[in-house]
Amino acid sequence: MEASAGAQPDRQDQPHQDGPFRRCSQSHRPPGVEKDIEKLYEAVPQLGNVFKIEDKIGEGTFSSVYLATAQLKMGPEEKIALKHLIPTSHPIRIAAELQCLTVAGGQDNVMGVKYCFRKNDHVVIAMPYLEHESFLEILNSLSFQEVREYMFNLFKALRRIHQFGIVHRDVKPSNFLYNRRLKKYALVDFGLAQGTRDTKVDLLKLVQSEAQQESCSQNKAPIVKANKVSLIKQPKPMDVTSRKLTTKKKVVSTKTVTSNLARKTASTCPANLTCDCYATDQVCSVCLSRRQQVAPRAGTPGFRAPEVLTKCPNQTTAIDMWSAGVIFLSLLSGRYPFYKASDDLTALAQIMAVRGSRETIQAAETFGKSVLCSKEIPAQNLRTLCERLRGTPSLDVEKQDDHAHESTLSLRTDQKLKLPLHMEHPGSSLHEDSRGVSETPMNEHQASLKGWDRVPDEAYDLLDKLLDLNPATRITAQEALVHPFFKEMSL
Ligand code: ADP
Ligand code: MG
Repeated sequence: MEASAGAQPDRQDQPHQDGPFRRCSQSHRPPGVEKDIEKLYEAVPQLGNVFKIEDKIGEGTFSSVYLATAQLKMGPEEKIALKHLIPTSHPIRIAAELQCLTVAGGQDNVMGVKYCFRKNDHVVIAMPYLEHESFLEILNSLSFQEVREYMFNLFKALRRIHQFGIVHRDVKPSNFLYNRRLKKYALVDFGLAQGTRDTKVDLLKLVQSEAQQESCSQNKAPIVKANKVSLIKQPKPMDVTSRKLTTKKKVVSTKTVTSNLARKTASTCPANLTCDCYATDQVCSVCLSRRQQVAPRAGTPGFRAPEVLTKCPNQTTAIDMWSAGVIFLSLLSGRYPFYKASDDLTALAQIMAVRGSRETIQAAETFGKSVLCSKEIPAQNLRTLCERLRGTPSLDVEKQDDHAHESTLSLRTDQKLKLPLHMEHPGSSLHEDSRGVSETPMNEHQASLKGWDRVPDEAYDLLDKLLDLNPATRITAQEALVHPFFKEMSL
């Protein structure tokens, strides 16, 4: 959930906070949880009439989620998830999250809502509880068929919300609950959702206009945004090398600018000033004085699509399909998180390391962005990459060239940033801490049992279409469901 309709804070996946918590009896609850439960009863006393709050099962930046039981007059005891939204959440945001659940939820793997409680500024959404796995914990043991089913069910949920003109904006494993035993799935957390132009969720239209108002007022403000001060405060053109951070292996330099065509139309750019740093690794004072371009960028960095990372103002449901592609990449490679970048530039460079720099630059052109990269990074073959990371033994993976370059990374829309990129050998993880099966390569027997020695080309074809750098041609949820990869699955 967001603190305000327009604010778009970064989210990182928090495997130790989000996701299934320990399920312990009341007496074994840590004192902190005990206190939080007491506070929740105090803040929203009517909860006590209906629920017995058992435990805290999730804690994010914008909400806490509790497991409760409800003893209804008729019928058995029911397990309920209570999502307590932080009291500072924008009222329109809260209402929009609730409306997404009521309008699109309850069907096709989209979480529904049972009740909602409010006292003053405290809002609690009560949903059916779905016990679920920790993605990281099960990643090692999933069979290929389970991965196929997981993706199929994720696309079902995405097709459903996209039909309603809802862009989720934060598709990632901790927001797609999976009960492996029951084969149940649920897309949750509409706290960052936005509407398409013709959205059927009325309140998402308001979220949009709130966000626009906020961005208009931001446009009047100086260029420097709080979180970027340290990167752009030098008034003079900067030498890339002065910001080069030495990393283990690779640092690649990229820079994005709004292309000339887009510049002409962008009201925030002073059109009369000629930039003299175009296609160089410098930031000229003209560019430093340009107003910041505002575009939605909510979500979790490692799952952000290239058009989000480059602040393309026209974002569509295709951004969720990209995030689904990143999940699929984790499932096929056995690495999670696959990308973990602290900022958008690093994230973009990591994408280039897999999809190729030339390809990224070409795609960005289509949505009005110029991306510059100091070195050409070739696209990787997705099958080779995933098999190498997974450690599937049956394949003789050719040793690829090490494209370790010592160069720098920078991205610019109207300002230029130069950042380090940590990249290991191609075929190793893009995120140093990511874990997966490749740490203990499967033996042939295990691999064949789980179907990992027979991953069909269709899987990589679908992955390629999800990780299409161009949002206009990226596969939709509806198309993904009828992709040959799912030919044996029924809708
Ligand atoms: P946030 O906006 O804080 O990320 P989420 O809606 O994603 O909130 O919920 C946080 C976590 O709480 C989820 O990752 C999940 O582990 C748990 N959770 C949320 N809704 C449910 C539910 N209906 N059933 C079971 N667990 C849930
Ligand atoms: Mg969440």
